[in-house]
Amino acid sequence: MNHIYLDHNATTPLCPQVLEAMMPYLTDQFGNGSSIHFYGRQVRSAVDKAREQVADLIGAKSPGEIVFTSGGTESDNYSVKGVALHQKNSCGNHIITTSIEHSAVLHTCEHLEKHGFEVTYLPVDRHGLISLDQLRETIRNDTILISIIYVNNEIGTIQSMAEICGIAQDHGVPVHTDAVQAIGKIPVDVEDLGVNLLSLSAHKFYGPKGVGANYVRRRTRLANFVHGGAQERNRRAGTENVAAIVGMGEAVEIAKRDLQENSDRIVKLTNRLRNGLREKIENIYENGHSEHKDPGTLSISFESVSGEMLLMRLDMEGICASSGSACASGSVEPSHVLAQLGIPPEVAQSTVRFSMGSTNTEEQIDETIEKVTEIVAQIRSVQNSSWV
Ligand SMILES: *Cc1c(COP(=O)(O)O)cnc(C)c1O
Repeated sequence: MNHIYLDHNATTPLCPQVLEAMMPYLTDQFGNGSSIHFYGRQVRSAVDKAREQVADLIGAKSPGEIVFTSGGTESDNYSVKGVALHQKNSCGNHIITTSIEHSAVLHTCEHLEKHGFEVTYLPVDRHGLISLDQLRETIRNDTILISIIYVNNEIGTIQSMAEICGIAQDHGVPVHTDAVQAIGKIPVDVEDLGVNLLSLSAHKFYGPKGVGANYVRRRTRLANFVHGGAQERNRRAGTENVAAIVGMGEAVEIAKRDLQENSDRIVKLTNRLRNGLREKIENIYENGHSEHKDPGTLSISFESVSGEMLLMRLDMEGICASSGSACASGSVEPSHVLAQLGIPPEVAQSTVRFSMGSTNTEEQIDETIEKVTEIVAQIRSVQNSSWV
């Protein structure tokens, strides 16, 4: 079966050119970057090059501001815990975040609450945006960090990051952003935004899994994350995952080169899917913001349709999308993001997220429209007309 992959916010396929760049570091160039001999030097310069590539992509002033990590989750943990641990009992114990963070930030903050930190989870409006006035009012003298997701992975809403950083700067509070869903989709420039810390993950932009980076603006005060050897300037010890880091560097080059072309293509595909579904299916609702939105994410609630059922039926037809609900141990918990938008649980459970990527075609979108239309009609015909 030819599969249609519409789950790019979960992960993306590895770009062949990226694999090619990685191969030498999985074979001949096996050195340890800390060794001073030939093998070590080869690897060290490859890691340095990747660091420059990442710094260049996000407009960092110096490659020294980039720390390689094991991915988005680790970068989020490093930023939030790093600042928290450094500031604890000196500057304060108050952290501000949002109620629609990725679990990597949300659960880190919940963990910190058990260790004496106080966390404010800002609510969002029905489109997923925080209120800047509310942010202003929430900042206190003991606020040590503001961590706000840039592009939400479930609904695609983009926060006004530059304004957020402006407000934070007025109060001298550092800002971290989880920009995992922004890279390769919208331009990201740490100087334009004014963030102090920013998380990236390679596998969300056609790079390998298990590698990411954390941007740490010079003079940002945070504790080192992994203790051991002197790798990553003592900030994150452990022998570098060289092949993955090199792959990330290559993926960054391609993301930068193709940003405009890709996003133009993806806007068209998303519009095609949105319009096709709207035309053919009654009583469907799109979640998220109409303008401040990642163009590749389409979160749709289908009235009277179980999202899980729709996803399973689509999977049988070779179409891979994702649910707006987190499925935990057999019970379907409504997504915390959709709940925060004020969407009732029964509507949240009828939600499917389609996330488009660079490998999708118009034909795939047309087939998806056809199959979704068919399946929704079938499910609705055997269910009563209320929300499931
Ligand atoms: C995927 C994702 C992460 C986690 O990144 P990993 O590299 O998979 O750990 C964090 N935040 C957002 C917004 C994501 O989409």
